[in-house]
Amino acid sequence: MLGGANLKIFVTGGAGFIGSEFVRMSLNGNLKDIGINPTKVVVYDALTYAGNLNNLKSVSSDIRYEFIHGDICDPQILNKIPDDCDLILNFAAESHVDRSIDGPAVFVKTNILGTQNLLEAAKIKDVKRFVQISTDEVYGSIDTGSWDELFPLRPNSPYAASKAAADLISLSYYKTFGVPVLITRCSNNYGYFQNIEKLVPLFITNLLAGKKVPLYGSGKNIREWIHVSDHVRGIAHVIKYGELGEVYNIAGDTELTNLDITRMLLKYFNLDETYIAYVSDRKGHDFRYALNSSKIQNIGFKNKVEFKQGIESTILWYKNNKDWYTHAI
Ligand code: NAD
Repeated sequence: MLGGANLKIFVTGGAGFIGSEFVRMSLNGNLKDIGINPTKVVVYDALTYAGNLNNLKSVSSDIRYEFIHGDICDPQILNKIPDDCDLILNFAAESHVDRSIDGPAVFVKTNILGTQNLLEAAKIKDVKRFVQISTDEVYGSIDTGSWDELFPLRPNSPYAASKAAADLISLSYYKTFGVPVLITRCSNNYGYFQNIEKLVPLFITNLLAGKKVPLYGSGKNIREWIHVSDHVRGIAHVIKYGELGEVYNIAGDTELTNLDITRMLLKYFNLDETYIAYVSDRKGHDFRYALNSSKIQNIGFKNKVEFKQGIESTILWYKNNKDWYTHAI
């Protein structure tokens, strides 16, 4: 069990969508109830097209916060991690499936080699926890039922395959070198500060601009949705209560087809289905993802944000933060 008021945390990819939510929530005291109350949070981020320091503006004057511009593939990362670091969280990744189809190489480099480089540094620094942030996509696609953590990994996209490889290399560092690894695999996230290349913010910002939304194939593909703050709370639970060397699924409670979610957004904006532009399907598009999250529930975790309320607050956020997303692309 790890937690307490003196935690020193190194967050890679902390300028991205989910990493920045972790940083904001931990510094704002929103994870205190789960025992995450840091004295130091170092964000280490390469600031690729997906990284945005505006995501961290609200905490930038906090004396516990520090930003370091750097790449997880750089062997010098060892010198950037504080000597008394308790916890490393690896959010840094290339994260967009479509980009992995257009150019897989950088996914292999960052997601696999970068993770291994970071694990090597964690081994030398002797940290207390190393959390690898992974995804449901490593399991492949499932027509019925749901995956628990023991399901075989059958990733289909280069993105998912690179994340699966990172999970395995992380577990090997636990078994072989005793690096205190924990892995979380989460469903599709939505919420504030998400790059508008992803479905929810892309559709919201298109509709706000009076434009059509590009829906892949028939729109029948099914995903589970989770608010980013619930994902972060799930990660905090795993840090505090998770067993080393274990994997924890973090599932969204809301299972929807892409067409369902599109219709919900159209309804919110009072628009009809002429605003849907059906486009050719993504290559190798997984049909359905569904996680069994009994394991994390057994260590006391439950989502808090109800989907309707979460999506409405997300729409409002994009409505009120046009400057953010016109500079984020
Ligand atoms: P994101 O694309 O918004 O952010 C990624 C961050 O990593 C950016 O700040 C970027 O600058 C940084 N980065 C990229 N390459 C780097 C490198 N080589 N060195 C250092 N920093 C680098 O991604 P996200 O949506 O916040 O996802 C974070 C993690 O969560 C990823 O590992 C992703 O696989 C996982 N995940 C995401 C979702 C989702 O729905 N978004 C769901 C489950 C798991």
